[in-house]
Amino acid sequence: MDERAATELVSTARAETASLALALARRRDEIVAASEFSSGDDEHDPEGSTIAFERAQVQALLQQAEDELVALDQAAERVRAGVFEVCERCGGPIAEGRLQALPTTRTCITCANKR
Ligand SMILES: [Zn+2]
Repeated sequence: MDERAATELVSTARAETASLALALARRRDEIVAASEFSSGDDEHDPEGSTIAFERAQVQALLQQAEDELVALDQAAERVRAGVFEVCERCGGPIAEGRLQALPTTRTCITCANKR
């Protein structure tokens, strides 16, 4: 993979993750706004506890998307540094197919399986 292809791979994944994070943040805001109309008594209000559960779920997914964005920024730096396809553990090459499926990976499949 040349640097241009790697840059494109990472930036495409970043754009997808950024729009996912935006959608999740919007969903969380909707839930927060909706919960302001509920009694706030989560334990005794079945609807309140459903809202709390969904809010926690959306929050967890949003956190995941934000972590992914950080990892993708690091991947972009690895591309710039010329080490995108170099395994952090053994220094060997990371297979192109693996990078295409997992642009944030820092290890080759052999090292990943050793963990
Ligand atoms: Zn390795």
